[in-house]
Amino acid sequence: MNWQQQATSGFRNCSDLLDYLEIPNTDRSHVLEHHRFSMKVPLSFANRMNKNDIHCPLLKQVLPIAAENDGITQSQSVPDPLQEREFLTAPGVLHKFQNRFLVIASGYCPVNCRYCFRREFDYENSALSLADWNQRLNELKNTPDIEEVILSGGDPLTLSDRRLAMIINDLRQINSIKAIRIHTRFPVMIPDRLTDELLEIVRWKNTESVRITIVLHINHPNEINDELHKKLKHWNQSGVLFLNQSVLLKGVNDSVLTLKKLSYRCFESGVMPYYLHQLDRVSGAMHFEVPLSEGQKIASELRTQLPGYLVPLYVQEIPHAKSKVPLISMCN
Ligand code: SF4
Repeated sequence: MNWQQQATSGFRNCSDLLDYLEIPNTDRSHVLEHHRFSMKVPLSFANRMNKNDIHCPLLKQVLPIAAENDGITQSQSVPDPLQEREFLTAPGVLHKFQNRFLVIASGYCPVNCRYCFRREFDYENSALSLADWNQRLNELKNTPDIEEVILSGGDPLTLSDRRLAMIINDLRQINSIKAIRIHTRFPVMIPDRLTDELLEIVRWKNTESVRITIVLHINHPNEINDELHKKLKHWNQSGVLFLNQSVLLKGVNDSVLTLKKLSYRCFESGVMPYYLHQLDRVSGAMHFEVPLSEGQKIASELRTQLPGYLVPLYVQEIPHAKSKVPLISMCN
């Protein structure tokens, strides 16, 4: 199967996935079979999960469970924790930080992560359409303080190579833009998305005047299997800069040992740790929240166990703050 077929197939209901993973019925009582934010898991990602292990850290990230609907657990959550609706300056564009534009390049993801802060996002009316693109470009040309454009989503790598090349090319014509970032979890879910054709586009468009960076989203070292490791390494050796951002998730990666392994595994694959995010309190995801004091302890300990260049910055995004807010002091 090519990457497009893999992205539209895979598991769409819990029973099929749990059967595939040989999870006994006795371990399924907390599973939520039907949910508005449906389950979506590519086969490639399922193949990295542990068999017969309901606590598998990869499975936990994608399996809908009853806690998502529990009023007490979810009491402090909201549908739009980053108040992104207020920053949507036009369909497909979020202007949150002074010199950066974030483009909702696609409303589609090959996976539905249960903790996703955009799980309630109105993609239907707010993702970029082809028809909107020229207008957005004109707006960008008329906003010379914009120095960087972030392609986000959904997942921008759901777009065809041709469309991505066109978007990147158009952006490169704007003098003020010095950097393009691609925020994606697609290659982590489906390593086959890292095709030679896409590599050529990224390499060809990556010039001294406009740098392209790919920011991946990997939460656990087991997500980097040999196939993904080889592809990332090859791309990195071909000159592509990868960064990684993770979300601190209870029961998934909330230990110093796991995060340390993740940093080293990323480094081996040519991916530099970037951010460790405190969970955004989106409705249905509160059971993943690690208390701030615990997160701070983990992040501080991580600094003592890793060289500085492998320590992700523990941060939180706070609506209307001018940048992401670091959650531990760098002075002690
Ligand atoms: S890949 Fe990213 S945008 Fe897509 S569901 Fe997961 S966290 Fe959300």
